[in-house]
Amino acid sequence: MSDFLSYFRQDNLPHIWCPGCGHGTVTGAIVRAIARKGLDKNKVCIVSGIGCSSRAVGYLDFDTLHTAHGRALAFATGIKLARPELKVIVMTGDGDCTAIGGNHFIHAARRNIDITTIVMNNNIYGMTSGQYSPMTPKGMYGTTAPYGNLERSFDLCELAKAAGATYVGRATSYHVPLLIDLIEAALGNKGFSVVEAMVQCPTYFGRKNKIGGPVEMLEWIKEGTVNVKAAASLPPEKLAGKALIGELHNAPAPEYTADYDELIAKVQRKFDTFQGGLYGCASNSD
Ligand code: SF4
Ligand code: MG
Repeated sequence: MSDFLSYFRQDNLPHIWCPGCGHGTVTGAIVRAIARKGLDKNKVCIVSGIGCSSRAVGYLDFDTLHTAHGRALAFATGIKLARPELKVIVMTGDGDCTAIGGNHFIHAARRNIDITTIVMNNNIYGMTSGQYSPMTPKGMYGTTAPYGNLERSFDLCELAKAAGATYVGRATSYHVPLLIDLIEAALGNKGFSVVEAMVQCPTYFGRKNKIGGPVEMLEWIKEGTVNVKAAASLPPEKLAGKALIGELHNAPAPEYTADYDELIAKVQRKFDTFQGGLYGCASNSD
């Protein structure tokens, strides 16, 4: 227990999250996955954007950055390029990651840069009082969708996979052991990894959609999912409207910072050859 607490900045507790919020569950799962991997705390850097979920980094005793809205992956990319030996983790929310940060997300995936991204999807902008996000399901309510959201929502995992992420998984704040397993596997992937964690926001999403409190929301989340292994033997009508959970994609590919290092070495060799030729010419003419 004391080891577990050593991952937290206890001076910064208690946290600001509402009672029953799912973000603490995901934060705990990340810490457990890091502990299981035995990662050196001084070699882990955790970056977040803006939103309720992004406040997590203030409580975690690693090198952490709480950055600008939607820009966590831009900062994380810079850190990873400057210090490729670090394990870089991004904690972000559905609004932060898929709206203002959407372009950073698809390009980080396209590059396959070695960053583990945990997206806490509560289907809404929690911190700014419940506006709908690109992950709010069609027909559901938010403060800016009082008559129901007209837009279709992203399937974040399909988006990540299509954009080039090499590890993709989804779990929920109900399926905690699975969530820890997926984060652990994502941390082990040398490349861009995404774990979507579906979580409850009882204060806004639950209230606006009359789902109920934290317990009812957890039941609602559980009912809305099917494990990808079970899905293989289920008819399409049993899968309609359900989110698949489990490991959804695992396809290792060359990683960006490793390729970048190789490119630097190649350019350096060319430069050395050029310099050698130059000095060789100079000495011939003497
Ligand atoms: Fe959690 Fe929602 Fe409260 Fe934010 S507003 S802390 S997401 S319950
Ligand atoms: Mg959100």
